[in-house]
Amino acid sequence: MTRYDICVIGAGIAGLSLAARLAEHASVLVVEAESAPGYHASGRSVAFAHFGLGERVVRTLTALSLEELAADPSDDRARPAEVHSALHIASRAELSALDALEKVHRDFGCDFERLSGEEAAEIAPALKIGPEHCHSAILDHGSLKLDADAMLQGHVRDIRAHGGRLEFSSAVRKIARAGEDWVIDTESDSFSAPILINAAGAWADAVAGMIGARPIGIEPRRRTVISFSGPEGSNVSHWPFVKTVGAGFYMLPEGAGQLLASPMDEGASEPCDAAPEEFDIATIAHRIEEATRLKVARITHSWAGLRSFARDELPVVGFAKDAPGFFWCAGQGGAGFQTSPALSRIGEVLVRGEEWPGELAAQGLTPALFSPARLSA
Ligand SMILES: Cc1cc2nc3c(=O)[nH]c(=O)nc-3n(C[C@H](O)[C@H](O)[C@H](O)COP(=O)(O)OP(=O)(O)OC[C@H]3O[C@@H](n4cnc5c(N)ncnc54)[C@H](O)[C@@H]3O)c2cc1C
Repeated sequence: MTRYDICVIGAGIAGLSLAARLAEHASVLVVEAESAPGYHASGRSVAFAHFGLGERVVRTLTALSLEELAADPSDDRARPAEVHSALHIASRAELSALDALEKVHRDFGCDFERLSGEEAAEIAPALKIGPEHCHSAILDHGSLKLDADAMLQGHVRDIRAHGGRLEFSSAVRKIARAGEDWVIDTESDSFSAPILINAAGAWADAVAGMIGARPIGIEPRRRTVISFSGPEGSNVSHWPFVKTVGAGFYMLPEGAGQLLASPMDEGASEPCDAAPEEFDIATIAHRIEEATRLKVARITHSWAGLRSFARDELPVVGFAKDAPGFFWCAGQGGAGFQTSPALSRIGEVLVRGEEWPGELAAQGLTPALFSPARLSA
């Protein structure tokens, strides 16, 4: 049985980004049930970084992450992010929500403009304008279109470059205590490590159950995405990411001729290999045709993934109080990519017992905000 300093369960963006940082200081093993990284939530994400979701803590994590996400890779990797505008749109009834979002953009020092409906439609030509449709908008020039696969593969390379190991097709079936160590059994192998990181996404509570730790109430919620053809003969690649400020939809270009869209559904789900439901596919097609002049004539592809939330919708990063060396890295919700640089740094600090960084404290972030202990009451 091989012993590591740290074993990470889960090769999604949460587990890989944290493992890549820790592999610089320790021997790290990542065990993943599926045959490749990012099979579940991380491989189904639209991976767009913007300020239109979450509350103060998630937005602060986003702001802290943007610079690292936008940085030029130092080697010949595919560029993991490109600047792509986000257009947050509101009907007349939603103006107060748009005003609040404008304040968020101002507070975070974003490069943005407030636009009329007419101005918004010049940027996203298919939008219907008027009090019931796009009445006013915020155009954020600093949002990022992330390359989820490039990010995942970049972390895999970094882990290996530092001597870390990844085991795919290795579902963890049993975890037991042996002295100071956790013994982790997959179907074909056993490993041990004194620190066990639970980055199992929708399965985070199930993994905690394997060691008899108290579940913290991680709730997986399904989100559906469709891909459909843009208007015949037009290049939509320069269209912004468009998102309604309230319930509704988001839409973004994918290549020259295709658009992706989601009804921003949040149906509760068991942890599973999520699949889209007919109702959600019909809902998004209807909402796009209501809000724009587009026809969703042919859906080329649809999929769903699970976004996992703690009950306060904040990420959970920290050691469990009821199990020595058991570290939670869960509940990234709908922002796991755009917050991954900051969250993995927080994970690194807490796993290594480093002093809490001044730049996090200056933003009002404390370990207690992320601690699983907050969820045990
Ligand atoms: C449709 C959709 C759109 C999204 N859009 C965005 C966006 O625009 N921007 C953004 O930042 N975020 C977005 N997200 C959210 C983001 O994708 C998630 O926050 C993130 O992927 C969560 O990563 P994770 O590593 O926690 O989970 P996962 O990627 O699900 O990884 C967990 C892994 O753990 C493995 N695992 C579980 N149990 C075991 C076990 N017993 N043994 C071994 N392995 C196990 C699973 O197989 C899985 O691979 C979106 C999500 C969805 C679904």
